Amino acid sequence: MSKPTQRHDAPPVRRMTKQKQAIFDNVMNRCDHPTAQEVHEALAPLGIGLATVYRNLAILANDGVISTVEHEGEVRYDCNNEAHGHATCTSCGRLWDIPLPDTKAPSTVTGLADVEGVEWTLRGLCTACA
Ligand SMILES: [Zn+2]
Ligand SMILES: [Zn+2]
Repeated sequence: MSKPTQRHDAPPVRRMTKQKQAIFDNVMNRCDHPTAQEVHEALAPLGIGLATVYRNLAILANDGVISTVEHEGEVRYDCNNEAHGHATCTSCGRLWDIPLPDTKAPSTVTGLADVEGVEWTLRGLCTACA
């Protein structure tokens, strides 16, 4: 069984099964930072089990084709692979992307040899809830 080596915009990934593709598409199309549970619920009609969703999300995140963000103690899956910050509404719980400020460590930061990433989440009421 040979597979065409077709390249899309996404970085090369390991074997893309039908289920993995559906999971990937769900995260990339919704862009609302779903939990594994939410991806599972969305894919329920396809009969993809929760364990499969968890496993494939972990592989996709490990391959760097989707990002993760920890929010209120839960891992969320993120369609945005660029460095970015988040804003969250304290009323409706929506989580969305915002640009990051300068991510270089200020000169006052000690003990960190190199900055590999920054997590930045602003909290407040969204314009719909305010
Ligand atoms: Zn809101
Ligand atoms: Zn994000």
